[in-house]
Amino acid sequence: MSYSQQTPVTYDALVVGGGIGGLAAAWELTRAGLRPLLIEARGYTGGLVAGGAIGGVRMDLGAEGFVIRGDAITQMVDALGLEVVGPSGGGARLFLPPLGGADAGPGAEPDPARGWRLHRFLRDAYLGIPADPLADDVVAVIGADGAARAARDAELAGSVGTSPQDPADLAAFVRTRMGEAVLDRLVRPIVAGIHTADPADLAADTVAPGLRQATARLGSLQAAVTEMLERRRARRRGGGAADVTVAGGLFRLTDALRAAIEAAGGRVLTRTGAQWLRPADDGWEVGIAPTTRGATPSAEPVAAGPEQVVRTRRVMLACSATAALRLLAGAPGVDTALEVPVGSPIARFTLVARAPELTGAPVGSGLLVAPAAPGQVPVRAKALSHLSVKWPWIGEELRRLHGGAAPEQDEVHALRLSYGRPGEPRPQVELDDVLNDVAVLTGVRIPRADVIDSMLVRWDGTLPPVTPAYRERTRRLLAEVAPLEGLAVTGAWVAGTGIAAVVAHAREQAAALAGADSTSRVVTPEGHV
Ligand SMILES: Cc1cc2nc3c(=O)[nH]c(=O)nc-3n(C[C@H](O)[C@H](O)[C@H](O)COP(=O)(O)OP(=O)(O)OC[C@H]3O[C@@H](n4cnc5c(N)ncnc54)[C@H](O)[C@@H]3O)c2cc1C
Repeated sequence: MSYSQQTPVTYDALVVGGGIGGLAAAWELTRAGLRPLLIEARGYTGGLVAGGAIGGVRMDLGAEGFVIRGDAITQMVDALGLEVVGPSGGGARLFLPPLGGADAGPGAEPDPARGWRLHRFLRDAYLGIPADPLADDVVAVIGADGAARAARDAELAGSVGTSPQDPADLAAFVRTRMGEAVLDRLVRPIVAGIHTADPADLAADTVAPGLRQATARLGSLQAAVTEMLERRRARRRGGGAADVTVAGGLFRLTDALRAAIEAAGGRVLTRTGAQWLRPADDGWEVGIAPTTRGATPSAEPVAAGPEQVVRTRRVMLACSATAALRLLAGAPGVDTALEVPVGSPIARFTLVARAPELTGAPVGSGLLVAPAAPGQVPVRAKALSHLSVKWPWIGEELRRLHGGAAPEQDEVHALRLSYGRPGEPRPQVELDDVLNDVAVLTGVRIPRADVIDSMLVRWDGTLPPVTPAYRERTRRLLAEVAPLEGLAVTGAWVAGTGIAAVVAHAREQAAALAGADSTSRVVTPEGHV
């Protein structure tokens, strides 16, 4: 670490990190009348929300939607003049192995590959946890015995699985309340698809905030899920769908945030990284420097140029855990010895192709493949999204650009297949493998020659699982930062994964930071005064 001696430049506030957390925080600061500087180490703003053109159409390459929780994000979307929309395509599917010996029930669509079948997502469920364990669609997936066990949740006391001495992970909670079948065939495939982690490695209170408390309060998990679904429907945003996005793509939200910050007098610098932080007489000083790419696209960018010192009364750290911990080492009284869990490799392959047989949307908006032992799964992909069906503007734009004179030439589709599971080595993904997986999962074989464009994007390590121990540790760290005036921390590593959680946390922290005393001397190297 080298502290520059040059004259610092001053700003109302400094936001480190230009993902959705940093952008939402900077936007909130401008709403309080401040003109923040936001620095982003990479060459673009948005972080894990990123748009890129495939087949000439810009689409989301990273996060593509959010679960409506509270109104922090929808309020922000409205204020920016954007629209919240739900997915099309008649819902998603689960691709599951055969139910061992039991009757799979009606409604399942047969799949020839080793007895695996496509099932519709449950009508009334949260993260795969059913509101009514005896509903037809639940019995179809987990069988009559599994459903009967799940229904016994209603007979258990509300304290079962929700007391402080109970394990805090999602798997233990679901197993205790509803049994192994709900965990194995519903929750695990969905959670693995969303969080790239096993429910046993995830804190229930982070991935399903409020669910354990509601179970304790209402007396059963099914009642808690029912309440959650009723609240969602009452909001009526995005057609009451579980996952919604911004019309045109989620990247429009981060683009609009950046434009709004700049229009309000804030400044955004990309390819600029924070190197260190230290207390100053009247606030904080942060060393910033130009950056270049790291060793791999998903690695952290590295400093590559002369340092500049920023002096400010308000610093918001909205960067990744590793960078934030490095910066917090300069904050008095904060113990930064914290082991960040390692996220799994994630590879997403998007292809645009002529495929008339896909027009009937054979897998709805997409599907999740249940995790299984190697050799037991007929595909390597863990998820498939039929993007041109799920988000209709993608289909319309593709047809406009690539549609031909004959009607069958209009049938241009975008599919995205996701690869990489916890504990697996970095997946190698080639077009031929992807087309094989598409054939097994949708029943449609797309010839290589009909592929118009494709793109492989890797997000290795970007979703570290929030284990109960990690959650507890980050809470302690936040408590140590809280008394340091003019300093706040946000982002997925402390707020919990998911756009809605990150935005709510970032806005709340920024609003508090905006109110930080702007006249008094706030900290000394010895500590808070
Ligand atoms: C493939 C994928 C799909 C996902 N899909 C969804 C989804 O559909 N819905 C959902 O809710 N969530 C989804 N998520 C999770 C969601 O994207 C994240 O929780 C959220 O975007 C995190 O935002 P953030 O601002 O905290 O972090 P990031 O987006 O990681 O932003 C942090 C930024 O800080 C920058 N930075 C790091 N160090 C420095 C430094 N020293 N100086 C300056 N800048 C620095 C980084 O370059 C980065 O841009 C997905 C995640 C992935 C990987």
